[in-house]
Amino acid sequence: MDLEKLIRDIPGFPKEGIVFKDITTLLMDKDGFKQTLEELYNLASGKGITKVVGIESRGFIFGGALAEKLDTGFVPVRKPGKLPYKKISESYELEYGTDTIEIHEDAINPGDKVLLHDDLLATGGTMEAACKLIEKLGGEVVQISFLIELTFLKGRNRLEKYDVHSLINYDSE
Ligand code: AMP
Repeated sequence: MDLEKLIRDIPGFPKEGIVFKDITTLLMDKDGFKQTLEELYNLASGKGITKVVGIESRGFIFGGALAEKLDTGFVPVRKPGKLPYKKISESYELEYGTDTIEIHEDAINPGDKVLLHDDLLATGGTMEAACKLIEKLGGEVVQISFLIELTFLKGRNRLEKYDVHSLINYDSE
């Protein structure tokens, strides 16, 4: 199945100038869900991964399912103020202003081999910050996977020292 056909474009959401890639249409398709998970799993299996880290919030969906298939634990990276225990933060630049993400300080053990997952790679700022969080806690980023990559934003350049995979690529909006 062509997974791209299951992604819905929403122009102007959440604000003017952005074409939002809506994955809910893929999630609600049982064959699409299964195929996506299978493809992500095939990329990650056999790499000795010990933790899957998902980025809030759409990264939790396949991140959690992947952890089960890979027989690892799952760790959420969240927006500020959501995690209840002791945590570390990383801030990154946006077009206007900055954003911050957080992780529990005991979520990664030194030497953990980490798969980072999110739904979409745009500028790469979020994922670059997530990599820093993992490395601050002594984890090794073994693979990064996305459902979707907006290749024209060149977010991959910020992640060039990592093994980055995406299932669906868009060369333009
Ligand atoms: P970035 O840090 O620029 O790579 O942005 C990635 C994060 O923003 C991901 O968590 C995405 O879910 C979200 N995001 C950015 N652009 C879009 C888009 N066009 N459609 C859906 N989500 C997006």
